[in-house]
Amino acid sequence: MRGIGLFSGGLDSQLAAKLIMVQKVDVLLVHFTHVFLTQRVDDVKHYAENLGAPLEVIDVSEDMVEIVKQPNHGYGDTMNPCIDCRIMTLVKAKQFMEDEDDFIFTGEVVGQRPMTQMRHIMRYIERCAGLENKVVRPLSQKLLWETIPEKKGILDRNRLLAISGRGRYMQEELAKIFGIKEFPAPAGGCLLTDPGFSQRVKDAIEYDELSVKDVILLKLGRHFRLPSGSKLILGRNRSENNKLEQLAEENDVLLRTPLDNAPIGVLRHGKLEDLQLAMRILLRYAKGERRVIVWDKRGNRSFFVTEPLQASEVTKFMVKL
Ligand code: SF4
Repeated sequence: MRGIGLFSGGLDSQLAAKLIMVQKVDVLLVHFTHVFLTQRVDDVKHYAENLGAPLEVIDVSEDMVEIVKQPNHGYGDTMNPCIDCRIMTLVKAKQFMEDEDDFIFTGEVVGQRPMTQMRHIMRYIERCAGLENKVVRPLSQKLLWETIPEKKGILDRNRLLAISGRGRYMQEELAKIFGIKEFPAPAGGCLLTDPGFSQRVKDAIEYDELSVKDVILLKLGRHFRLPSGSKLILGRNRSENNKLEQLAEENDVLLRTPLDNAPIGVLRHGKLEDLQLAMRILLRYAKGERRVIVWDKRGNRSFFVTEPLQASEVTKFMVKL
């Protein structure tokens, strides 16, 4: 018999694991990583090691991209499809249940997040995942219905907690009691809750350009949507320039000025009429430079001289972050 814990690495999920482990129940932590998360997997592994609990890491990027394109339960305030995301991770976590007494646990806190952590929605999500009464939320369980592991006496309900809301005081006090010193800041973690990034995701969906590889590009540089529907991405520093150059595909057109530290641009799905505009946008960020080198990964290379676009014109094409 084991508790399978959905483990983000955040303080709440660490505390949830501790609250199960102190009841002498074996745990397996499962971390679902994906391309929209900012949390480093190595940090998550480190937090699991600190707890002394085994950890499985599963990459669900492909599933997440499909969910983001068409969520059955819609989006939250931004492009975050949290209900479908939670259902998907519970369904995947269920695959680790081997014994009929196994159960799932999470670090969810009632009332902490409007979309997924309201009592009735939590119940709905576990039902959709085929896990009715098999999901324990140790931090809030006393405020929720009795689950199967509690009924069977595997878990003592009196040793679970009744925390609710967005405050952090209780969790911080518990961290001291359990000696948990390392955990990430509570805010952030998923780029889909960032309004600026969500704008880029929305634009990419509109132009049918959302794959895992595309999401990696969405995290880099300045993005412009040109009139014919093509996309121009400009690096903002040397590191982004290098990444853009690496990520450019065979059909992409690359642009740069001869200046050492000037932006590199990647023009994707570009038509001939976009090239002139792309060069002029690039020059807006190239400090008075007029020369542009254009090349691709098939070995074509050309040299142009043109004028930068006015700043007020450039912003018209920007997909804002
Ligand atoms: S914030 Fe992101 S990772 Fe978290 S439930 Fe929502 S979509 Fe999933």
